[in-house]
Parts: sequence; structure tokens; C-alpha cells
Amino acid sequence: MSPHSDLLQGIAQSSTQLELALVQVYIDPELTVSYANRCFNTLAASCGLPDNQLISWLINDNYSDAKQLIEALEQQSTLDAESQGYSASGQRFHIQWSLSLAADNQLICLIRDIRWRQKYKDQWSLFERIFNSSRNSIVVTDENNNIVMVNNYFEEISGFSRYEVLGLDPGHFGSGRQSKLFYQELWRSLQSDGYWSGVIWNRRKDGREYPEQKTIYVVTNEQGVLTHYFSSGEVLPTIGEQSSQNEFSHGLLNQQMLINHLNENRHQYQEPVAILHVGMDRMEQAKQVCGLSFGDHIINILIKRLKDHFLPHGLMCGSIGDEVIIAAPHISTPESAHNEGLALLKSLSGTTQFEDIEWKISASVGVSFFTPDNDAWKAIEQAHVAMYHAKGKGGNNLQFYDIESQNHAKEGLRLEQALKQAIDKNELSLHYQPLIDLQQQNVFGAEALLRWHSKEFGHIGPDRFIPIAEQSDLILDIGLWVVESACRQLQQWGENYTGSVAVNLSAQQIQYADLPNKLLAILQQYQVPVDRLHLEITETAMINDTNSAISVIAALQNAGFVLSIDDFGTGYSSLSYLTRFPVDKLKVDRSFIDTMTSSHESQVVTKAIIGLAKGLGLKVVAEGVETQEQLDQLHELNCDYAQGYLLSRPLDANSFIGYCQQYDLSQNNLNHNKLIHNKNNFSHNAPNPRHFSEGYAS
Ligand code: C2E
Ligand code: CA
Ligand code: CA
Repeated sequence: MSPHSDLLQGIAQSSTQLELALVQVYIDPELTVSYANRCFNTLAASCGLPDNQLISWLINDNYSDAKQLIEALEQQSTLDAESQGYSASGQRFHIQWSLSLAADNQLICLIRDIRWRQKYKDQWSLFERIFNSSRNSIVVTDENNNIVMVNNYFEEISGFSRYEVLGLDPGHFGSGRQSKLFYQELWRSLQSDGYWSGVIWNRRKDGREYPEQKTIYVVTNEQGVLTHYFSSGEVLPTIGEQSSQNEFSHGLLNQQMLINHLNENRHQYQEPVAILHVGMDRMEQAKQVCGLSFGDHIINILIKRLKDHFLPHGLMCGSIGDEVIIAAPHISTPESAHNEGLALLKSLSGTTQFEDIEWKISASVGVSFFTPDNDAWKAIEQAHVAMYHAKGKGGNNLQFYDIESQNHAKEGLRLEQALKQAIDKNELSLHYQPLIDLQQQNVFGAEALLRWHSKEFGHIGPDRFIPIAEQSDLILDIGLWVVESACRQLQQWGENYTGSVAVNLSAQQIQYADLPNKLLAILQQYQVPVDRLHLEITETAMINDTNSAISVIAALQNAGFVLSIDDFGTGYSSLSYLTRFPVDKLKVDRSFIDTMTSSHESQVVTKAIIGLAKGLGLKVVAEGVETQEQLDQLHELNCDYAQGYLLSRPLDANSFIGYCQQYDLSQNNLNHNKLIHNKNNFSHNAPNPRHFSEGYAS
């Protein structure tokens, strides 16, 4: 074998490894093969091409025979091209080839089989057609959640072209309607489960909002590394759209979709969700007397009024026949369901003119509540039953599924009326519950708790009347009354008490931009330094972090108020808001303290909360301490402050001062050991709250 053919053998072997076909051919009209590697033979067989007539492979649009090829080759010394077609036996071939002059008046030809390219092209174009013909809006983002691909339907529904959105975060289209917490939950579930499913409200280019039933998946590569996110969304109809498109009976979410939606999102609802089943009265009669189109006319009225009433809250509606089911997460108590339901009934009653007919219209509403431990189907069925009950009462009526809710709602309305006059009638008062400093062993402060003694109803607990005040705007006046009373009391106590008083703020109050100024004005009026009025805000109120609440909380902090998070641990699991809100104290919810000596989990959680708070430089208060054992454990866990019946019940103003004076705590008491003799008998010397029994209003 000559060195030349040795070289050729070497090249042939390497090219086989690269899956390249290699042939050496004579310069003749057939380009007759003098040498071929294994790949060439395999390729020739699979394409059905005669391996002794290479020229038939290489002919394409540019070269029709060997003569043309060789002429071109003599000018350029190598030629590269592609050829494709069908062999005589009908097999498809598609090759990429490179031809060059070699020694001994021969040519070397390297050939690559590129039929796969077409296959991928076909597959890609199929994928593209499916992607773009889908009636779901599809968005693909990269690992940083920047959009890399959207389909036609996305463009159609959002009003944005793909070129406007490539590279953007899908959050760009958010309506702002859903809380940060909602998105935090979404990401948490994507990270832990690899997918998320639920309803997202987005905003179109023209500013209109629309709900989408979305599923988002994490896409990973072969190594399991996240590379993309894929989301597919079905646009849900809203009431507004129904009425404008006049598609009531077909266009609304159907009942099953509403049920699925509620069941799938059950854990997002912290409070019960009211279900209102609304049906127009005497529909059958209307259709019989005045015809089917009159029926449509009445249903259109229903849709229009529902739209006016509920659309601002972005509620989901389902239809069955002529009736509508509304799921209203913003209505969570019988009282508010009653109020909203009555307002709805009012808006749905009156007379309507259709052609020459005048017809008296009215509706019936049935109410039930959906809770996370319930099934949505059951709740909807219950609302339906209640609606029939309302119809049975002659229509233009509202009924609850259970009689208890009904009575509760009625009583709530009566209480609301009475509460409106409670301030003027001097029926409100404050009680003060001591907070004990576990390290310093003194009374650190007091929590002001509101009491209502109604002349009509007797003593009503705050757990009953505060939610009623919160549903109406009464809480704003009552809240200011509480602050003013607490400040007046601090002024009256004077030197007898120099600690702090904490007041509770409701979610509604922290929506109110003027709150910091109002509080500062009251402090000034009674000459109370700002650090003596502490403010407690519940965890749930904080995380419903509308922008107004965030700025009010920041303004309160800037003004120098000491802020605590109340009922900590009962809200959401996400703790990221702790770093966003500038608070000073956490109050561990009573439920953890209650079970910490009997449940290992509660103890672990309490310990973790204390550790977390310390890590963030916050103080920790344990609420609802009832036993010595709990107190000892809290002391061991390095908890800062404790509050609870073991130490004292909430006391009226005089009793509270009596409690403090017994230990001489509010003035420079140097004998700290009075309260605590040893760690195992912590409250040994604490005054027995029974000595202050006049303060037993709680
Ligand atoms: P909260 O802010 O968590 O107040 C603590 C509640 O726990 C008080 O109930 C208190 O009497 C009770 N408590 C204290 N120690 C113990 C204990 O050892 N064991 C048990 N079982 N309970 C204990 P209260 O006074 O009935 O107040 C209930 C809720 O009403 C308060 O919960 C607060 O959310 C609200 N509230 C009370 N006053 C006001 C107010 O002026 N404004 C607002 N917005 N809400 C208030
Ligand atoms: Ca509180
Ligand atoms: Ca609390």
C-alpha cells in the first residue's frame, strides 16, 4: 500500500467515526468509485442510490453532469453543495457534499446525510402550527422568567405583539389585583411541585383586565436543570364581558368550571367565601306570557345589575339556565352577605318596559358559605336550596342555607345599628392587660382592649362587634376613639404609670393615608410621647399589602410609633414581608402558646418564631399565657415579654394601676426579684388578678 493510500485509509476511518461518507472517484462521466468507506456503502443502501454512479447523487440545480462539475472544480479546486431528490427505487435522499481534486487524476468526495434536517423542519413547523392554532394563550419564559416565545392567541387576547413582549417578565401584564402573597404562593408551588394552576388576572394593552385559568410548568433539561417555564391559559369570561357580548346563557363560566376553580384554589381563601345563587322571580311566567325574547331581556337586566354590583371586585360567576351563581371572596360573614344580598335584591327589583309590555321584576337570592374544608359543589347546592326557599317565601327575598347564619346576620344588623350610637351613648370603655418583661421582671406595658356594654344587648365581646365595625366604616371612628381614650388615660395616670399602651389597629384603619397625622394630633393633644403608644396590626392585615397599607405602615414607623405584628403565625407561611415592614415586635399567637406544653410541633414553632425574631432584631411577646409551665418554657426560650390570664386578665384603668403599684413597677423599682423568685416559680409573687375582680370584664 502506498503512503498515499495509507493516508486515505486513515481519513476514511476518521470520517466513518464522524458519520461522513467518503469516496475516491475517477474523473470520468460516471465519476466511477475507486474507493469508498463503510459510511458511504451504508448511505448508498439506505437511499437506494447506485454506489457505482456517484454522479447521479451529485446532480442538482447547479450541476447537471460530470463535465460541469469538473469545469467548476478546475476553477475553484473544491466544491460544496447540497442535492436532494428521489432514487429510482423511490427512496428520498438529501445530502450535503464536498468535492476536491486529489492525486492520480482522481477526486475525493465527502458526503453527509441530512435527511434528518427536513424531519426536524417538518416537526418544528407542525409544532409551530399547533402552538399558534391553540385557543389557549401560551407563554414560554427562560430560566430568569423572561419571555422567549408567545403564541398567536396570546397576541390576540393581550393586544400586545410578540415583539413588544419578548424579554419581558410576564408580571408586566399583572392587573395589580392579586396580592404579592398570591404570587409568592405561586412561586413556592412552582418550586416545590414543578407546576402551578389557578386563576391569574392580567391586563390587556388597552388597560382592560381579564381572568385566565392558567397552568404553569417548570421545564428542565436532561440533567434536571430548570431551563424554561411554560404557561398555558384559558381566558375566563367575566360578567362584564357577558353583558357586552350578550352571551349570557353560553358565555358565563359554567357551574363545573366555577366548582373546579373554587376547589383548586381553596387554600388561598383565609376566610369563608360567600356563594350567592341569584334567580329572577316568575321567569317561566314571563316567558310564557311575553315570549322567549322577553326572557332574554330580563336576563340581560340581571347581568347588567350584577356587573354594576360585583364587577369591581372581579368575581367569578357561573350560570345554570336563567340563574347565576356568584362566588364572592370579599364577602365572608353572614352580616356582609346579608347587606350585599339586600342591596342586590334592591337593584334587581322594579318595573321594566319591553316593546309594549310593562313587567314587574324581582329576584330571589340564596346564600351559603364555601370554606376550605368544604366542597364547592356542596356549597353551591346549598345556595341553590336557599334560593328556592327564598322563592317559596314569595320572591324578592334572601335566605341563608342554614337558619343559624340567618339569625346571626339579622342579629349582626341590629348590633350594627346599636354600635353606631355606642360612642355617643358612652357605652364603650377600655381595659388594660399587663405585658410582663420576662428578663427585667416588671410590667413592660399594657394592651388596651375594647369593651362594649350595650344598654340594649348587655355585654358584647370584641370578637363579635369588631368584625361588625370593620364591615361598616364604623371602625374608623371607633379606632380613633380607642386611641384618644388610651392617650387620655396615659395623661390621667401621669407619674403613676410610665410604661406603654398598645392599641389594636384594624386592616381598614391602615388603608387610611391620614391615619399617622390623626394619631400624632391626638398624642399632641394629650401630650403623650410617640414611643408610649404602641400599635398592634395583625399579620393578615399586613399581608393584604395594598400599596396604601404599605405606605401608611412606613409613615407610622417614620413618625416613631412602635409597631407589633399581632397573632403572628396564624397568617400565611411566607415570612418575606417581615423584612419589608419595619416592625419592632412579634406577638406569637395564643394558639401556639396554648398547645406548646402538650404539642411538640407548637413548641418547635414557638422556638423557631423566637429565633427568627431575634435574628431580625425584633422583640417577642407570647400571648395567652395561662399556665406556669408555659411561662417557664417561654423564659427558657428567651422570650422577651408575656401576656395572659396567668399574669393578669385585662383590667379596668384603676385596677391596672393597682396591679402595677403592687410591684411598684412603673417607677424606678430596683428590686426586680419581687416578681420572680426563681425560674421554676415564675409568677409566684404576681398579684392575683382576683384581687382586681372589678376589672373582670373580659
Ligand atoms: P387580640 O388583639 O389578640 O387580643 C388578645 C385577646 O386575648 C383579648 O381578647 C384578651 O382578653 C385575650 N387573652 C389575653 N390573655 C389570654 C389568655 O391567657 N387566655 C385566653 N384564652 N385569652 C386571653 P379580647 O379582649 O376579647 O379581644 C379579642 C380581639 O378583639 C383582640 O384580639 C383584637 O383582635 C380585637 N380587639 C380588641 N380591642 C380592639 C380594638 O380596640 N381595636 C381593634 N381593631 N380590635 C380590637
Ligand atoms: Ca392585639
Ligand atoms: Ca393577638
